[in-house]
Amino acid sequence: MSAEQPATPMKLAVVGAAGRMGQTLIRVIRDTPGAVLAGAIERPGSPHIGRDAGELAGVGRLDVSITSDALSVFTGVEGVLDFTAPAATVEFSELAAQARIVHVIGTTGCSAEDDAKIHAAARHAVVIKSGNMSLGVNLLGVLVKQAARALGDFDIEILEMHHKHKVDAPSGTALLLGEAAAAGRDIGLGQHSVRVRDGHTGPREDGTIGFATLRGGSVVGDHSVILAGQGERITLSHHAEDRTIFARGAVRAALWGKGRKPGLYSMLDVLGLNQ
Ligand code: NAP
Repeated sequence: MSAEQPATPMKLAVVGAAGRMGQTLIRVIRDTPGAVLAGAIERPGSPHIGRDAGELAGVGRLDVSITSDALSVFTGVEGVLDFTAPAATVEFSELAAQARIVHVIGTTGCSAEDDAKIHAAARHAVVIKSGNMSLGVNLLGVLVKQAARALGDFDIEILEMHHKHKVDAPSGTALLLGEAAAAGRDIGLGQHSVRVRDGHTGPREDGTIGFATLRGGSVVGDHSVILAGQGERITLSHHAEDRTIFARGAVRAALWGKGRKPGLYSMLDVLGLNQ
């Protein structure tokens, strides 16, 4: 290929195309050089089946019809962007592995069992999964890890707020930040997290990582990691103002994943922050 010839754009499909993130992904793909929308999927029986994906997302006709036949779409694309629900994501990961395409997973709330199945699918396909696809939150995770390590005896609390429609708690981002703090202290988050407090809880146990969840209105995503010591407190925060930051990260991840070896990757790999 000569230097003047543009590379063929990567063909991408969006599952959960009618969702909040699905529609944002369709708009971002349309605006990204090097990527093209080539498939859009919703669940069988969805009222959106047969509609044009671009019209649904408010950007005009893109000549991509929404369908529920995921496998036939997956065989014609190079990557799939998935911000749906855990059960759907597990199913899509098996289909993406069969089709050997890049699977970018933003879905949160996956159980350990779901994650094991996604891990198995990553033996055959490039899977990039992250509880938050934004540059800012991934950088924040790096800072939280450093702070947790440097301030070993400070109490760590993670506070998050999201819109009233969110169905899982704590958010995938809060858990990502909790994992970063736990990694900074060389401990496992599972054994040290306090996910809720209610009633007579007794004093705070040293070395735990606490979570607090707020829900309401249209908040896209606010996260603060508070490191509280004797007489001083550090707060590291991120405020997402627009879902576009997650969609841009997801499309960037798909382009990064093209041609890579099968395996499970994170946004830290995509952004080169995984040192
Ligand atoms: P949403 O508006 O409810 O969208 C989810 C979409 O997925 C809906 O259109 C839903 O259809 C569809 N869906 C569910 N099961 C399906 C299936 N089996 N086949 C096809 N489509 C299916 O939710 P959202 O706000 O976009 O968020 C989606 C997920 O992404 C959540 O887990 C959220 O936490 C996560 N998220 C992650 C990030 C990140 O950066 N990692 C950022 C934002 C959001 P129905 O309405 O018919 O169920």
